Amino acid sequence: MRVPKMEPIKARIHREVVGKVKSITLEADAAGDYYAAVLWEDGLAEKEPLKEIYEDQVIGIDVGIKDLLTESNGRKEPNPRHLKHARKVLRRRCRQFSRTQKGSRRREKARRRLARAHKRVANARTDNLHKVSSRLVNESQALAAESLRIINMLKNHHLAESIADAAWGELLRMIAYKMKREGKYFIQIDTFYPSSKMCSCCGFKLEKLDLATREWACPHCGAHHDRDGNAAANIRAEGIRILRAEGLPVLRREMSSPNAR
Ligand SMILES: [Zn+2]
Repeated sequence: MRVPKMEPIKARIHREVVGKVKSITLEADAAGDYYAAVLWEDGLAEKEPLKEIYEDQVIGIDVGIKDLLTESNGRKEPNPRHLKHARKVLRRRCRQFSRTQKGSRRREKARRRLARAHKRVANARTDNLHKVSSRLVNESQALAAESLRIINMLKNHHLAESIADAAWGELLRMIAYKMKREGKYFIQIDTFYPSSKMCSCCGFKLEKLDLATREWACPHCGAHHDRDGNAAANIRAEGIRILRAEGLPVLRREMSSPNAR
């Protein structure tokens, strides 16, 4: 990599730069690694928004604590297991660091190892969120989720450790820009909507639903619900309603399609 006023630097290039480089930012992190963030213009325009979409290409998402998210088609995206292991390592490195003497060389070594462990957790988390968001964007024309404000209001105070909430915000942010880039739609429901307590089949509303109840049967129509899948189905329906209200044609297929949701 060639930076003005410096000798050429040996670098690992993650993605080929195509187009005109606008700026390069050099940075060092706590683990002692150096980074160059390159901003360039590829000259490609964003895609035009789709003029119409199909109902069976709309997915509702319910984010959660046990699973990262549940889709309206029933698919669940678990919180990755390797993160759990990485956190254990993190706690150990943290203990090791705090046992070292201030100003000692061992302390500096322990600090670097701790910083590296932190970075591994952060990288693994981001990596997984990119994978999940890209898959959702590829598999849909429109996605619907509750806004972060609503998600925090409903779920945050139930969290023992607030690891999940940072992931939710990051996931929604990734989905938003990736959908926009593809000319697709991302609807965030920002009004309180009884997504968990309402039967997605008949619209019957339960008085209350404990957080511990993972499955329930509708007393009105008898439908059996997975808690999160039902919430996702309601979020999807509300998303479709909003898109139609905004004037976007959301079409039904003439024949039942094999990938209908
Ligand atoms: Zn029902």
